[in-house]
Order: sequence, then structure tokens, then C-alpha cells
Amino acid sequence: MRPLLGVLVAAAVVGAAASAIALSGAPSPDAPTLVGPSIEAAVAGGPSSSAEATAQVRPPAATVAGATRVGSRPPVVDHGPRTGNRVALTFDADMTDGMLRNLRAGRVKSYANLRIVDLLEREQVPATFFLTGKWVERYPDLTRRLADNPRFELANHTYGHLAYTGDCYDLPRVPAKGMTEDAAKTFELIEPYGGRQTRYFRFPGLCHDAAALSALAPLGLTVVDGDVVSGDPFATAWEPIVRAVLDNVRPGSVVIMHVTEANAAMTDEALPHILAGLRDRGLVPATLSEVLAAT
Ligand SMILES: [Zn+2]
Repeated sequence: MRPLLGVLVAAAVVGAAASAIALSGAPSPDAPTLVGPSIEAAVAGGPSSSAEATAQVRPPAATVAGATRVGSRPPVVDHGPRTGNRVALTFDADMTDGMLRNLRAGRVKSYANLRIVDLLEREQVPATFFLTGKWVERYPDLTRRLADNPRFELANHTYGHLAYTGDCYDLPRVPAKGMTEDAAKTFELIEPYGGRQTRYFRFPGLCHDAAALSALAPLGLTVVDGDVVSGDPFATAWEPIVRAVLDNVRPGSVVIMHVTEANAAMTDEALPHILAGLRDRGLVPATLSEVLAAT
């Protein structure tokens, strides 16, 4: 699983090394605001004062999908029950400072694959999107479109796609004392969009260790890895993506794909074949919360 993900990470870092000044994209007038003072205060306490952090980070509503007990180390799930016929299609929306520089310099046209969203909407396919905060800031209109679709769930993929462990391919690392804040401010960026909010969280590169999980304990979330890696980052043909998914998908599977366009240019071509293959196998796409809750 790791080598396939590593392709994305390595190329993202090449982009990051490219040049110049970071940008935050064109802010929308009604774009949500950044970190609240409550998060700053919670993080100032540091990882050793988790009780204090628990008291100050805004807890999730208990009814939100993926919400877990605040203060306890979050569970990590790969897939749902192997019964039934549901599978979760998940799409990561990575965004790094290097990717933002590529957009600003015109080296890359888009990291938002509208053809994927168009297809899912047209076919009325449920899906779950793991959004980085920087992607949300860059694409507020598309974020709103995702939130407005009752078949789509929104989840958290960190703020700027930094690593939460010291050994995660070549991804730059979020400071150890900044992990809680990084995840918390991403929830705060996504939540104003409404729709089907969740408390699901996916680490960049799926890299996590005990310290990273403990840092997320104040946030009352569920960590979601996945059991089917599509290998879509930087694919040059759609067939291997289709094979990787259909050869491995089973009831309860969580399929990892990307909606990052330039960094996953074949995903929209693979998707119709994946949907057809799922139908042939009697498998039905559902949201992550439905797949994980299935019995
Ligand atoms: Zn990612």
C-alpha cells in the first residue's frame, strides 16, 4: 500500500520545491474563517495536557457520523463489516503549498476534477470526500457544491497535507505540538459548508503512530484508512486503476481515490469502469457512514 501512495507524496514534494511565495487562492466573500481562539488555547497546552485541550476544543455533536468520545484515542478503521453489498468510494482532495504555487505559476490548471463530481452527480452515486483545508480555501464553490449534494459526505484530510509522523515518504512534517490544531482548524473550515458533515479523518499517506493518534484524542473523531488503494495518483492509464479497485474490492470496502485532477488525471476515466464493475459484482456504492455502520 505504501509504495503506491508514495508516488503521490514524492511528486507533491517536487512541486513544493518548485519556487516562490505561497498563496491562499482567491478568497470567496463568504468563505469560512480560520482557526478559532479556542483551538489556539487548546493547543497552547501542548500534548501533555490533553485534559485541558479536551475542555477547550469544540467537541463534535454526538450525532455526527464518526464522532467518538472526546479525550480517548481515536479508533482506526480500514473497512466496514464484510456483510451486505455496500462499498464506500472515497476521494481525497490534497493541497500543499507546492501545489498552490503550481496553480499560481500556471504550471498546473486545476487540482479539482470536475468530471468526477459531474459523473457522481449524474449517476447519483454516493461518495465521501476527504478535504484538506487548503483545498477548501482554494475551491470554496466546489466545496459548497459537494456539501449541497445529499449523497456526499465531507471528511477531514488535514489542513495542508503535512505528515503527522516522522517517516511518511518525503512529506514535510507538521510540528508535533501542532497536530491537534492542524486537524481542528480543518474541521472548522469545512463545518460552515453544512451538508453531511462527519468526524472522519484521514492522515496524509495514511501515516500515523501512537503520538499522532493521541494528538487527535481531543477532537472526538474516527481515523479512516481504507482497504482498497486505487493507485490513481500520477497514473498514466486508467486500466490499472480499474484493476486495482475491482481485483480487491469486497463488501464493506473503503476505496481510496483522488479528486485532484492534475495529480490524478486518469481517475475520471477509470470511474465509469469501476462503477460498471461494482454493478457486475452486485456491489453498491454508499457513503462511508453507511458502509461503516452496516451490519
Ligand atoms: Zn492525501
